Amino acid sequence: MIVLRRLQSVNISRHLQNISVLRLDKFHTNYILRSEFKDVMKIEINGKVLQFPYVWLRDNCQCEKCFHSSAKSRIIDWSKFDLNVQPKNVNQSDNSVQVIWNDGHVSDFKLSWLNYRSFVKESQKNYTNTLYKPAKITWHGDDFDKVFSKHDYNEIVHSDNALYDWLHKFSIYGVALIQNTPDSETAVDGIVDRIGFTKKTHYGEKFVVQHVANTSNVAYLSNNLQMHTDLPYYEYCPGVNLLHCLVQTASKGGENLLSDCHYTVAYMKEKYPNEYKLLTETEVEWSDVGCENGNEFYKLYRSPVICLDKHSQVIRINFSIPQRGSHFPGPIESVKPWYVAHSLFYELNEKFSARFKTKAGDILVFDNIRLLHGRNMYEDKNNNVRKLIGAYLDWDEIYSRLRCLKVKLDPEDGI
Ligand SMILES: [Zn+2]
Repeated sequence: MIVLRRLQSVNISRHLQNISVLRLDKFHTNYILRSEFKDVMKIEINGKVLQFPYVWLRDNCQCEKCFHSSAKSRIIDWSKFDLNVQPKNVNQSDNSVQVIWNDGHVSDFKLSWLNYRSFVKESQKNYTNTLYKPAKITWHGDDFDKVFSKHDYNEIVHSDNALYDWLHKFSIYGVALIQNTPDSETAVDGIVDRIGFTKKTHYGEKFVVQHVANTSNVAYLSNNLQMHTDLPYYEYCPGVNLLHCLVQTASKGGENLLSDCHYTVAYMKEKYPNEYKLLTETEVEWSDVGCENGNEFYKLYRSPVICLDKHSQVIRINFSIPQRGSHFPGPIESVKPWYVAHSLFYELNEKFSARFKTKAGDILVFDNIRLLHGRNMYEDKNNNVRKLIGAYLDWDEIYSRLRCLKVKLDPEDGI
């Protein structure tokens, strides 16, 4: 009965019946169509029946009145949009589907275009993990050698394949190394230019990491730098940190400590659910107050240590002992339990961390909102002064470059 109602409402013309209607009959006589799905077109692509809501099809009409092809943008006048739009005719051929709507408007959709936008969960997941964002793989410091990919500066500068390979692996593991970088304070620009542009902060477009006695930032000292994320006090926190090693210390120390907080968070969620919950819910005030190159700044931002999205996936980690302010925005009872959880998070990250000492010509690249990074103490000598050049990038620019390259290097029918 329900199928019959559908067919009446669709009113597909007689000469098209052997295309859509018969398939509808064949596939839908054996199950009950729920009422909210009555506004759905069902078509067969490669032997699979796919469903597309009519409202979505009409919204995504690709004709020149509805979609601007060079701007790749919808230009439908929404004030005239009919949410209850119904087709008069549906015509499926080998490569496309034509929908003639009840107001006479005609939409043509390539089957490959529709297939790529399938509502089937598996297809949605595949798109999410390939074009949207490559799925992350978490790691323990013991496995660092396996996940720490190494790339060549000149290859990244000159080859799209090398650029894609680096960005793809980096987005999965959150850390990668670029080797053979020219010995120049501006060499990191050659990498940044391949992606887009840096994220400027109050420390500049680029910054020098070197021992400075009366510093504006504890990173510019040579003692132990406890593990942290950079700039948690920024609402729009830079996503990626590039550290170009110009001179490494010949002394003991100067090694980087790196830990994947996504691994730590998953571990805490399982073994220490209460502490995990506190770190996801309790807001902390991150702060940086001072003056750099004559410019005063007073940055404050409130956010938990572990920020989750609606799927309970970690979207951002904030952690910095020096740059956590002394104002505690939460209730007084939550203070001590939060400190316990904070301390556990710190200890676990130390336990799960990897150590790596860069050498001159290396650019260490890491996800600043996923990893904690630190550095152990070192000693400068007159003829050996450790010196790094740092720059920040945003994930928006990296994912954008990755998608541009993916489409260019591995075109997918239907994009
Ligand atoms: Zn149209």
